Amino acid sequence: MTDSALPVTEQAVSRFVTNYLESLGATIHKDEQRWTISMPANPVTELSFDDTVVNLVADPAEVDDDTLSLAPGSDLFERIVDDAVNREALGSVTLTGDNIEFDSPNWVASDSVEVTNQQFTPYYDRHALCVLFHIGVETVSEYQREMIMPGAVDLTDHEQRPQLAHSYLELTEQSGSALSGGSCEPSDSELTEAITACREMVITKLDPEIQEIREKATRTATAEIEEYRQYLQQRQKELKNEKQKLAERIDELSKATESTSERTERLKRLRKRKQLRSDLTDLRDELDDVRDSLDQGMPKKRTAVRDRHALTVRVRPVTSTVITYERGDMEFSIQADSRSATLTCDYAVGIGTLSQPTCKQCGTALNMKNLAVISSSVVTGQQCCGE
Ligand SMILES: [Zn+2]
Repeated sequence: MTDSALPVTEQAVSRFVTNYLESLGATIHKDEQRWTISMPANPVTELSFDDTVVNLVADPAEVDDDTLSLAPGSDLFERIVDDAVNREALGSVTLTGDNIEFDSPNWVASDSVEVTNQQFTPYYDRHALCVLFHIGVETVSEYQREMIMPGAVDLTDHEQRPQLAHSYLELTEQSGSALSGGSCEPSDSELTEAITACREMVITKLDPEIQEIREKATRTATAEIEEYRQYLQQRQKELKNEKQKLAERIDELSKATESTSERTERLKRLRKRKQLRSDLTDLRDELDDVRDSLDQGMPKKRTAVRDRHALTVRVRPVTSTVITYERGDMEFSIQADSRSATLTCDYAVGIGTLSQPTCKQCGTALNMKNLAVISSSVVTGQQCCGE
């Protein structure tokens, strides 16, 4: 779950705020959704909490005005995100084989074969950077989506490590600050490059979602323009009718004026006709405008509507953590009936096996379709070389 976009739900708010404030030394007493937060005596941040009571809710509109709410999009949440962005906090942790249990590999799934033991031998440490990004997708008129998404890459070669980000975030949720710190201190340029790589990873992952929001915005804009076109066509029809009626009235008035010899009455009708002619000119102008706008495809309206629905995607790193993790060999002991065998794979803590284990006889990958079996004391694939 953590390696894909987390919409900023109540749970994501809760997790991020807890981790971030605790990393600043805050104490949080939680009584279900009611939290009492205090900052240490000399806080490293401008955020101030002094036995401050906040309510964790899904929607800021749920609580009264005098209660401080912590919710996606709430002022307090935005302030905490801004603070994290400004502080560019860099943490470090070390993940060792003791921190993480490795689940049974998926290439052992049959009833007759089981992994009886797995032994990890770490050979060396690697370093990765995990960055949590706050992502805001917005248009001029509304906030579309708010997300928190992690990206993780190896510090040296920038290889993507989504599984490591997943493991690290799960661990921090379970054990909080109990994880031990790391010793790696990357240079500024190393950090900048790794953050850029993480950002690219997140943006690529986010792309389908952004496309979807963009398409929705485009559909809304198109519908709005079409609605306006229909309005203009209707208006054009009305104006033509009015013009027709007015022209007829002017004609009638001209005839009536000609047949009147009485001076005052004649002047009155002439004045009336002059006013109607002026109204007719106004009508014609408006009609011309409407016709031009329709003929040219309503350029002004189009620009205004498109601007209003244009998307801005803001991707801001809120926290970065250097993760030191062990790499080495994982040796699996496998048993089937009375036969047993071992299999060794490249393994990294928090990531899992780095190479797919293969059949000892023919080298075909072992997986859910080619389950591990044992023949002549070696591990082989059921499909490729099974009995
Ligand atoms: Zn084979």
